[in-house]
Amino acid sequence: MDFSKSESLKNISEQHILGGVNSPSRSYKAVGGGAPIVMERGKGSKFYDVDGNEYIDYLAAYGPIITGHAHPHITEAIKNAAEDGILYGTSTTHEIKFAQMLQDAIPSLERVRFVNSGTEAVMTTIRIARAYTKRNKIIKFEGCYHGHSDLVLVAAGSGPSQLGTPDSAGVPIGVAQDVITVPFNDIDQLTEAIEHFGDEIAAVLVEPIVGNFGIVEPYEGFLEQVNEIAHRNNSLVIYDEVITAFRFMYGGAQNLLNVQPDLTAMGKIIGGGTPIGAYGGRLDIMEHVAPLGPAYQAGTMAGNPLSIRTGIACLEVLKEDGVYERLEKLGQRLEEGIQQGIDQYGIKANINRLVGALTIYFTEEKVTQYSHAESSNAEQFSEFFNLLLREGIHLAPSKYEAWFITTEHTEEDIEKTIKAVHRVFEKMSS
Ligand code: PLP
Repeated sequence: MDFSKSESLKNISEQHILGGVNSPSRSYKAVGGGAPIVMERGKGSKFYDVDGNEYIDYLAAYGPIITGHAHPHITEAIKNAAEDGILYGTSTTHEIKFAQMLQDAIPSLERVRFVNSGTEAVMTTIRIARAYTKRNKIIKFEGCYHGHSDLVLVAAGSGPSQLGTPDSAGVPIGVAQDVITVPFNDIDQLTEAIEHFGDEIAAVLVEPIVGNFGIVEPYEGFLEQVNEIAHRNNSLVIYDEVITAFRFMYGGAQNLLNVQPDLTAMGKIIGGGTPIGAYGGRLDIMEHVAPLGPAYQAGTMAGNPLSIRTGIACLEVLKEDGVYERLEKLGQRLEEGIQQGIDQYGIKANINRLVGALTIYFTEEKVTQYSHAESSNAEQFSEFFNLLLREGIHLAPSKYEAWFITTEHTEEDIEKTIKAVHRVFEKMSS
């Protein structure tokens, strides 16, 4: 494979864009730091780089592209939106329709507000939880990413009764000290944190199914216990469904697992590839947001017709019969094919999968917490990623990310991927 154009663009890009990328993971630093592939166009399950290479895409833009690239129904919605003018700074009928669609799919959303990114959605739910409870601290779970606002860029202290430390330069220690981080799937540490900080805790923030150290499901009953412990303490429960909403079914992880949070943050899929975020939840809590209440949230682009109309089109595609059954079938076959390769070539790896999302961890340990994913072999993942890239299969460039299957992946794509994975495993084991 020839990457010469991508390679030469790296130097030019770095002269103009800081670090050559607009989001750090695109630098491929976690997989050996080669020149990032510069993509030119996408169609269906594939995208094509500036050197003319074709890739089967499992990155799916880190999640939003669940209907593949340039889906005709979505493209039509974008064209229609463009013809009608893409921004008015006023209310529209589209946003009302879309809010209703979200509420029909996820009943805990008694009221909804649209914002522009997952970061904004999570940040705002935290602000509202603080306004509602009149408390400042939040508890979050190790390894879960919730965007790049100050409060969620905080690393864990050494135990459940320890306050956080900044995970990024520029996050004040004072902010980090309002965050406590505990391991996912560990109810004892959560209980200890809540008992220790008691009436200082405004909310527990959780990805109900983790998507940020691979795909990790909660233990049976874990989320029910989170609700019980938090509510007994008069703290709220916030679900970050930025990855999970409409990922595994037409609805959220909360529908799939049959538990309800007080507030939910969403993004990614609901914009069909355009910038969006949304949050919502219990009416008595949402009423604390301006213009009804004292907690402020606003946005020039919030609810913009382009994103809203694209999001509606995306959900229309996902609502069609058999969509998630097909994602499940393709996911199952992909998992099975990769597992055969793991067994055949004696690779020390295992897979977590749910419907059309999966992660291969280069460790023999079953991953149920961040520490397990963290101890998986990064060098092996890097070798796997780079060899697979040269087979025309594009994964996310990090051992912590998931593979995402789209509605446009075909059985042929999956079989081709399995064969490529086997060839790569053969090389890795020799
Ligand atoms: N929450 C989760 C679970 C995410 O995975 C992400 C992004 O990857 C975010 C929030 C932030 O979303 P955005 O990148 O749209 O700001």
